[in-house]
Amino acid sequence: GSTIGIVGGGQLGRMLAMAAARFGYKIAVLDPDSACPASQVANTTVVGPYDDEACLKRLAALSDVVTYEFENVAVAPLRQALGQTPLFPPAEALEVSQDRVVEKAFLNGIGVATAEWRAIDRADELGHALLDLGGDCILKTRRFGYDGKGQARISADTTFTDAFEAIGSAPAILEKKVPFSFEMSVVAARGRDGEIAAFDPAENVHSLGILKTSTVPGQVTPALAQAAGDVAAKILTKLDYVGVIGVEFFVAKDGALLVNEIAPRVHNSGHWTEAACLASQFEQHIRAVAGLPLASPERHFDCVMENLIGDDVGRFAQLVAEPRSMLHLYGKAEARRGRKMGHVTRVLPRSRGV
Ligand code: ATP
Ligand code: MG
Ligand code: MG
Repeated sequence: GSTIGIVGGGQLGRMLAMAAARFGYKIAVLDPDSACPASQVANTTVVGPYDDEACLKRLAALSDVVTYEFENVAVAPLRQALGQTPLFPPAEALEVSQDRVVEKAFLNGIGVATAEWRAIDRADELGHALLDLGGDCILKTRRFGYDGKGQARISADTTFTDAFEAIGSAPAILEKKVPFSFEMSVVAARGRDGEIAAFDPAENVHSLGILKTSTVPGQVTPALAQAAGDVAAKILTKLDYVGVIGVEFFVAKDGALLVNEIAPRVHNSGHWTEAACLASQFEQHIRAVAGLPLASPERHFDCVMENLIGDDVGRFAQLVAEPRSMLHLYGKAEARRGRKMGHVTRVLPRSRGV
């Protein structure tokens, strides 16, 4: 049988491996930790102990196709190591999404609106950029940020030194703070033949920079769902994308959409699909990268997905006793603070069309 290679064996890699195993694929996961969450999945081999070029080469040698669970893979060594082994989503999607300046320039360039932003190449450019954008802003590292790490809010009383100390150093990006009504994301897939399927968008609530809940449909109207799906389809097509993508939006009070960021992978705000859809985002991604037809993204339930972070997982006995919940734990031994340990999706009968 064929082998699917996955760079990264965290919870996303684990859930991808589970979906791949269900289709009878073998899985090779590149992870420095031989006991990573994906290591516990059937049919799965862990390649390590580094994520350097030599290990990437071994992953490629084992795999018929390679994908990844996070966007911070160094592109040059990856390209070098893969040689003729196909990579989905394509390397261009990595290049665009791993640098916030490149990402926003790409989005604006294809006519997709974002928060106003300025590239900060040197610390002394911050003052001018702040005056230029005006009002409250957020300074973010260009690369390697996740779960709200590497970000500093800047208001009139923040000193520049404080802001840079909080995020490290330039190069950075300054974004105007968006007074959004709520946050929304759409998880969509594009197959090797160009077919596109979008799951219904979720309304997302963050707490301390980390996703707390995704509610479907939440405040997402049919018109918003249509608009978000159109934006996702445009991004997928322009990147000649194959696989699942997560597109995060800010929704303004008047319904206008701004894209916050894109993630070239399965996305935390799409975990609800395993409980409420025919095929989960993980299965959809495996279908796309393996060259299979996409599944219907239809949804059976309204639902709320809640992330179980750190000690939340101590509520296991209570959560597993809920009659209309699907509980999913990631097999992580240590419930460290801020660590994603699992999620629970609570379902209800569908209220309306979208
Ligand atoms: P993720 O874990 O989703 O990759 P991240 O670290 O890349 O997160 P962002 O998505 O850029 O971070 O920001 C995290 C959250 O901070 C957003 O979901 C939003 O709630 C808030 N935020 C970020 N940028 C802005 C902005 N320009 N205006 C208002 N809120 C913002
Ligand atoms: Mg991000
Ligand atoms: Mg985000």
